[in-house]
Amino acid sequence: MQTCRTIEEIRSVVKSLKMAGKKIAFIPTMGALHEGHLSLIREAHQHGDAVLVSIFVNPEQFGPNEDYDTYPREFEQDLEKCRDAGVKAVFAPGPEELYSDKKYLKIDISDLNRHMCGGSRPGFFEGILLVVNKLFNIIEPDVALFGQKDIQQFQIIRRLAEEFNHGTELVMVPISRANDGLALSSRNAYLSSEERKTAPGLYRSLQYIEKQVNGGVDTPSLLINHQKSELEAKGFKIDYLNTFSLKTLQPVKTLESGETYILAGAVWLGKTRLIDNILIEF
Ligand code: AMP
Repeated sequence: MQTCRTIEEIRSVVKSLKMAGKKIAFIPTMGALHEGHLSLIREAHQHGDAVLVSIFVNPEQFGPNEDYDTYPREFEQDLEKCRDAGVKAVFAPGPEELYSDKKYLKIDISDLNRHMCGGSRPGFFEGILLVVNKLFNIIEPDVALFGQKDIQQFQIIRRLAEEFNHGTELVMVPISRANDGLALSSRNAYLSSEERKTAPGLYRSLQYIEKQVNGGVDTPSLLINHQKSELEAKGFKIDYLNTFSLKTLQPVKTLESGETYILAGAVWLGKTRLIDNILIEF
């Protein structure tokens, strides 16, 4: 496995892979790799001949009061995990390799980032699009894999790939969970042992709402409000909990048959922000 720190190095790896006729499957990550990331790597082997992973804690997607400095960094272990998982090359640039001091251009997003995480984290998806656009231009992958855990990210990157003609096929991989249902996340490392016990409550609330909706409830707002109160009673602070259209990412009050919805929540438990979602075909 090759570890590339510069754009030049990874481009030369990509070039020789392409000359050998290999199909490249690419997974962008911020490192602190867990089973969720590894499930993306396993899936990537089904879609390409050479799996490339980037490890880059992207400063552009963190707000001024967010956890850029404290975000878990476990580079050596990450490399070991990638090697064991059959990754061909890891691209791990420093911030100065991807960003120059002054930027004159930015990508604007209309509507798709108005709600969900985009609503609560200004600049978040612009920062993600910036880095993914760069990574797609540098690596020119045939396939790129992303997790359903960040479903709004997936839908926005899908638009990026289409509207900017990247020619990259996108694959969404289901959420990997701990045995008690908690969606795996690098940020789970922030949870105290008490908080870790409480944390699966978010998924349980989503599952409860899903069950009622699958039972025919088409206006779930009362149900959702009740689950918000239950979560607050357990110590969660609610950022959002709602049903959203998969297509438009706008909140939806009345569900219509034949449509697909995202039942999604973001909550704070102490200093840790947790997100989770379930896809519902109504
Ligand atoms: P991150 O390192 O958090 O930026 O995540 C890198 C990729 O892994 C993203 O596409 C995430 O959606 C995906 N991912 C993170 N956690 C999970 C999970 N629990 N299950 C599936 N994919 C995940």
